[in-house]
Amino acid sequence: MDLTVRGKLFTPQGLREGCVRIAGGWIEEVGSELPPEGEVLDFRGKGKVVLPGLIDMHVHLRDFRLSYKEDFRTGTRAAAKGGYTVVADMPNTLPRVNTLSVLRRREALGRRRAVVDFGLYFGVPERGEELRKEIGKRCLGIKVYLPEEMGKETLGEALCFAARERLLVVVHAEDPSLFRNGRRPPQAEAAGIRRMAEWSLRGGFRLHITHLSSSAGLEELVRWKRKLVLSADTCPHYLLLTSRHERKPLARVFPPLRGPGDRTALLRGIREGEIEAVTSDHAPHSLEEKREPDGPGGFPGLETELPLLLTLVRKGRLGLADVVRACSLNPALLLGLPAGRIERGCIGNLTVVDLEKSFRIDPSEFESKAKYSPFEGMRVTGAASCTIVRGRPVFLEGRVEGGRGVNVKSYGEAR
Ligand SMILES: [Zn+2]
Repeated sequence: MDLTVRGKLFTPQGLREGCVRIAGGWIEEVGSELPPEGEVLDFRGKGKVVLPGLIDMHVHLRDFRLSYKEDFRTGTRAAAKGGYTVVADMPNTLPRVNTLSVLRRREALGRRRAVVDFGLYFGVPERGEELRKEIGKRCLGIKVYLPEEMGKETLGEALCFAARERLLVVVHAEDPSLFRNGRRPPQAEAAGIRRMAEWSLRGGFRLHITHLSSSAGLEELVRWKRKLVLSADTCPHYLLLTSRHERKPLARVFPPLRGPGDRTALLRGIREGEIEAVTSDHAPHSLEEKREPDGPGGFPGLETELPLLLTLVRKGRLGLADVVRACSLNPALLLGLPAGRIERGCIGNLTVVDLEKSFRIDPSEFESKAKYSPFEGMRVTGAASCTIVRGRPVFLEGRVEGGRGVNVKSYGEAR
């Protein structure tokens, strides 16, 4: 089915009124005026902008035995509503996605239940024999959780494998030897980055630091960028909240929230391109779990991420171009996807935003099973008004429609 989208397009040449035609799931043509073919969606009007489809490189869709927290369906419905066309799922599930048989089950589950497209990461396995070529066909990269895996026997093997197969190594970079009495200082993050960067320099794997949280971490990252190709993302909570907010157990997260100076440094890092991407680290848990004093870290983020970022745009802290670069163009480049631009030959994923929509964050309306947020009650301006995956609207007029997600590894090369 063909789809023609009209409106103000965010193109590599800047914002301009025009049309995009998607045929067979791919962008076929972009022009100022195209004869309407197939279904036509008209987004001309105040405040609406058509962006290349947003990609979230770091989410936890849970499912399997943790489906009481979230499952593929609810997690990707949250993505669709939040404006995300692609989400990359982390392997710390139960069972973990660190064997080939679990990986195959995970992919099949995604194909049955996902509403938007998905990518998968592979966890560091217990046995080196699991590191097979097939992983590269099904996964976007290897996830390393340094706080638990620093001394793991198979870590070195997994990193060599990633170098050989040219897989991205996405790292939660906190060095646990610097944790003190349950506190996780910014120096632990800087040390984790240093350790991984040294290994990357020797081992030749492509390193990506996820959810960068501190200015100390950012400084370490920038130092290594002179010697090494490495990239990083941060999350809205590190841009908007500080440790003061973490007194509420719902806002508990790892790495922890930092100070106002860290927040400012990270915003500058995005603007200056030192931090390539922004991710939600969508990490749903049950409310009962979150209320425990030593409850798990993380909270849902897919339905708040874009409104929070567009609010930062509204306030002049970020530009719209920064948001598109961090949430679409760079994730596509880092993950090797034919996406991230409104251009002929890219996959037909689009996110239409309404820059004027103003509302208060109300978690009771979330599609996610986790109906709470540290941002509850915050007034925001800007939200997705339509999410299009391979030419099919999966979120439109406030409703999530049933889409059929595929593994983004099946996209293949740009056409
Ligand atoms: Zn995470």
